[in-house]
Amino acid sequence: MRKFVSTRNKENVVFSKEAIILGLAKDGGLYTPIDLSDIKIDLNKCLYSNYKELATYILSSIFNDFTREEIKSCVTHAYTKSFKTDEITPLTKIGKDFLLELYHGPTSAFKDVALTILPHLLSTAYKSYDKNKKIYILTATSGDTGKAALEAFKNVENTYITVFYPKDGVSEIQEKQMNTTTGNNVDVVSIVGNFDDCQRLVKTIYEDKEIHDNYQNVQLSSANSINIGRLMPQVVYYFKAYSNLVKNRFIKMNDKVNFIVPTGNFGDILAGYIAKLIGCPINKLICASNKNNVLVDFINTGVYDINRQFYTTMSPSMDILISSNLERLLFMLSDFDDKKIKQYMDDLKTKGKYEIDKETLAKLQESFVGIYVNEEECIKAMHQAFHENNRLIDPHTAIAYHASHKYIDKHKNIILATASPFKFSNSVFSSITKTFVKSEIVAMNELSKISKEEIPLNLKNINKLEILHNKTINIDEGRDYVIERIKELND
Ligand SMILES: *Cc1c(COP(=O)(O)O)cnc(C)c1O
Repeated sequence: MRKFVSTRNKENVVFSKEAIILGLAKDGGLYTPIDLSDIKIDLNKCLYSNYKELATYILSSIFNDFTREEIKSCVTHAYTKSFKTDEITPLTKIGKDFLLELYHGPTSAFKDVALTILPHLLSTAYKSYDKNKKIYILTATSGDTGKAALEAFKNVENTYITVFYPKDGVSEIQEKQMNTTTGNNVDVVSIVGNFDDCQRLVKTIYEDKEIHDNYQNVQLSSANSINIGRLMPQVVYYFKAYSNLVKNRFIKMNDKVNFIVPTGNFGDILAGYIAKLIGCPINKLICASNKNNVLVDFINTGVYDINRQFYTTMSPSMDILISSNLERLLFMLSDFDDKKIKQYMDDLKTKGKYEIDKETLAKLQESFVGIYVNEEECIKAMHQAFHENNRLIDPHTAIAYHASHKYIDKHKNIILATASPFKFSNSVFSSITKTFVKSEIVAMNELSKISKEEIPLNLKNINKLEILHNKTINIDEGRDYVIERIKELND
């Protein structure tokens, strides 16, 4: 069975079920598969599989301590009727490139693809373990994970979820989506700070020995992409998109393609790298960053340096300086050198900076290209996509769309479209029309009129929903807040 080890201590070995339950390793590391070389996904088989068959095939190859039947059941629960289309992730044309539409799920962001299946993977895994504990899911969000996780876990038996979001760091619609969530096991809290603060809070709680020791009836877990159960379902759509291009004769089997990925926490693009490792013919993975371009600098120089200004941008889900999943990539690229990774992460904590060695950097640059897109270019991209290609794209997708124009080689470019444009109506509307409206709801309706596209149902009626959560705390109150919840669950 496949082993998953902590990036900071290789001796810490688990199988995928346990990795999914734990979320993060106790030493602060991220569980990562130590070897994927036994997997070679059969592209011909992909060609003739629908989304659910493909997901079952790929996920049961990776999570091989689950039975195929268990995975199949999780996949069926996740992807039946929850998405607008049975294709789950349709591929459409935009100019000479392609858009991989990942936003047709229950909350209109790509996070739904993985979060609709995570609760099922978690419950299935849990059946093999200690069933008496309650699972407490702590989630940091830059806007989209929060709502997708709340919808996925609400009313799931034996679980309780708290979502932390940056008070002034999410869009009006994102905030409303989260704060109107119903369910008897959900909790939403805003933090005075940014996403990195929220993520740091959650990580310190996982690493808190006192909490683990004192409250043995509660199992902490995570819905962020630090959880391998959240990351791996994202591998599936890379193969789906590839098969789609072959099927429609835009490329020949085994021709390579580029994927352009709007990146924040490095989860989505890491899933692309894993797809490449297990047989998806990928030339380059293009990491498209917004004004918070720490990753692009890193890919170009090998120096990761967060001693820089943090910006809030039109693409809030990418306003991140500490990209968690990069740790996994470096671990894989450095031949699983846990000591080295631990040193990098310690340096990041103490100096806000680390530099990788030349060999690792060369390996990184074999697969990844970094392209940075500023706010002005992002606006232009939305304008151009609509007026030249007749497509509405959201500001995150626009970052990738613009990057795709800066990266031209002989391969086809597939752009990951990570959110519905209606989720960020104001930015999209003002970019396209150069006029401003006061409210997101007005912008949403106007956008629908000019594009003749329907507003997704979950967003359409958002103003009529009751605000059920309205809590703000300071970052230093976070630990006590969590302990209070844990105490309630522990009794
Ligand atoms: C989360 C998110 C991203 C960034 O994805 P990562 O996996 O964190 O790199 C990009 N776009 C949207 C709309 C998102 O919600």
